[in-house]
Amino acid sequence: MTAFRDQILAAGLLLPMGADGLYGRSEQFEAIVMAIDDAFTRMSAGDGAERLRFPPAMPRAALERSRYMRSFPQLAGTIHCFCGDDRAHRELMHRIEEGQDWADLETPSELALAAAACYPVYPAMAARGPVPAEGWRIDVQAWCFRHEPSLHATRMQYFRMREQVRIGAPEHVEAFRDHWLSRAADFANSLGLDARLDDANDPFFGRTGKFLADSQRSQRLKLELLIPIEDGVPDVACASFNNHQDHFSGIWGLTLEDGQIAATGCLGFGLERLTLALLARHGLDCYRWPSAVRAVLWP
Ligand code: ATP
Ligand code: ZN
Repeated sequence: MTAFRDQILAAGLLLPMGADGLYGRSEQFEAIVMAIDDAFTRMSAGDGAERLRFPPAMPRAALERSRYMRSFPQLAGTIHCFCGDDRAHRELMHRIEEGQDWADLETPSELALAAAACYPVYPAMAARGPVPAEGWRIDVQAWCFRHEPSLHATRMQYFRMREQVRIGAPEHVEAFRDHWLSRAADFANSLGLDARLDDANDPFFGRTGKFLADSQRSQRLKLELLIPIEDGVPDVACASFNNHQDHFSGIWGLTLEDGQIAATGCLGFGLERLTLALLARHGLDCYRWPSAVRAVLWP
């Protein structure tokens, strides 16, 4: 079932690090990731998106305010640090020497790991004041953490998302999504990938999560670009389109100049998943890929 991962590891494209879903990247793997990232830059060059970059962590308070802990507590990661005195340090060293667990000697810090590239965008833009009539477009890319250890190469604990975020009137977000749906499908097509678009839902936690997932799906608030990667495994979401409606605007106070609450949406490319989709489709040596595919990635 994890034959594809075995092939990728055997070819040295991903380097195991001792935890499921955590990998080093080879020069060739990284060259493909960068080429997809650059292709994203080219395809969105005329959009006038402002490029912002954030570190792969965010204040725990901001994650909480984004309601991440309500919807996805199972995926979140928080940063813990040693804040003890000499005595606590002696205990720490003792436990390490004895091979005992020492996690309880650490204290939660004020930081959590970034779960999606777009999360820091909403508070940062809200701090600028009212959203202008034409709205905003922001381009982000970040390492994202999700606690979902897996033996499938496509489900990593740390991966990169390249996103464009749209903030504005609801019709801006609708048009943004429609534009990106055809753009992403064309991109996949130009790469010779057998992609299809479908309705989707986020993995909301628990019993109330089922209701949230059904409602997201029935309102078509999330669509995914699905690509077959591994035999016997469902097609993998390599890009996602999310209409958040007023979720983030309500939380962070993003309002339009006329006082109405703004809408937000985002489009995210999973850079590692697209890389793996290409490797699965065209072979494990990117120098031997069809020249038409190479021309799209390395023009
Ligand atoms: P899935 O349904 O497979 O769990 P998702 O719908 O939760 O993915 P999003 O939250 O929409 O994913 O994230 C945006 C993009 O990031 C996805 O389209 C995918 O390409 C990528 N991605 C999400 N989770 C992972 C992961 N664990 N490993 C690698 N890439 C991922
Ligand atoms: Zn997003």
